[in-house]
Amino acid sequence: MTPCTLITGGAGYIGSHTAVILMDAGYRVIIIDNLCNSSPRVLDRLRQLCGDQFEFVQADVRDGAALDSVFAQYPVESVIHFAGLKAVGESVTQPLRYFDNNVGSTVSLLQAMDRADVRRMVFSSSATVYGDPQQVPISEAAHLKATNPYARTKLICEDMLRDLQDADPRWQVAILRYFNPVGAHPSGIIGEAPSGIPNNLMPYITQVAVGQRDYLSIFGNDYPTPDGTGVRDYIHVMDLARGHVAALEHLTKQQSSITVNLGTGHGVSVQQLVDTFVRVTGRPIAYRQTARRQGDVAACYADTTLALTTLGWQAEHDIARMCEDAWRWQSMNPTGYAS
Ligand code: NAD
Ligand code: UDP
Repeated sequence: MTPCTLITGGAGYIGSHTAVILMDAGYRVIIIDNLCNSSPRVLDRLRQLCGDQFEFVQADVRDGAALDSVFAQYPVESVIHFAGLKAVGESVTQPLRYFDNNVGSTVSLLQAMDRADVRRMVFSSSATVYGDPQQVPISEAAHLKATNPYARTKLICEDMLRDLQDADPRWQVAILRYFNPVGAHPSGIIGEAPSGIPNNLMPYITQVAVGQRDYLSIFGNDYPTPDGTGVRDYIHVMDLARGHVAALEHLTKQQSSITVNLGTGHGVSVQQLVDTFVRVTGRPIAYRQTARRQGDVAACYADTTLALTTLGWQAEHDIARMCEDAWRWQSMNPTGYAS
């Protein structure tokens, strides 16, 4: 049997796009997801794009017995661990749920991998581990500081993975620190479908554009940035997905662990993103300036040198393309996977 890559959280936003890119690159994929933040319809869409090239197991990653049976059934040689909860605000009000799910699933998965003799993992971390960055662009060597429970779960998992590599050099781990993933597959068949009111900027913009929300609130216009609005490093989800293939190839060929930023290296303000969206889609976006959102930093963008030198990877798509693809997905699927 051809070796497989196990994708936890593969029905989610980034996992589903990565599954497509992996299958396009010839990988055999097993998805495990409990669908707590995704729709089973994603799987139909993946079949539409890739045929029956993948297997789906509905299970919780904290369920060790379910993991054991996946490892027993399929010749898994690597794991990409996306499964997790990701809403910062929710993590502040429900910290235990976040520690249980995000840290608990990672412990359970690593234990099952160890039992199955599979020690190659790509882990979804986040630029949030840099806290309020002392300088931008942010390099991987920057100080790490969790400023909310979600960020702390990522930092704990990172630390755990570092301890594991120190204890047993057979572990090969790629920790990928994502900046701000946006956009969708160019077909418009899969994309980002947040449940409820979006927390993130791009899905909020596309929901205003499609008429689901009246206006966008721009959180703060008094930051020390060129136009006063917050600056982030938006990265096309297809570029991000390619970064996972590059990371897997690195682990296989170099047999060494790595921690890298996945971003474009360019800072874009909220106002610039809104203006670009309006220009490329022709859709008006009503917006209002409001107070800063608590906990937001002024500017956050990546130093991408390490990703280029070690993985040979860099982002290719610009902000215009991110807006175009995000809009194609939203206009073809006005209510996400419920459409
Ligand atoms: P998502 O919510 O769309 O996908 C996560 C998937 O994991 C969902 O399908 C959910 O049902 C599943 N899941 C959650 N807990 C599970 C569990 N215990 N067992 C099985 N399945 C479980 O999120 P996403 O945007 O695709 O993010 C993927 C990963 O990347 C997360 O770990 C997230 O923290 C990280 N990340 C995301 C962003 C972002 O802005 N989207 C930025 C940085 C890092
Ligand atoms: N933002 C905004 N209105 C929104 C959502 C976000 O002005 O409805 C701003 C936010 O203050 C930040 C940027 O958009 O400057 C990106 O926010 P997002 O939540 O998408 O990412 P993160 O803050 O996690 O980097």
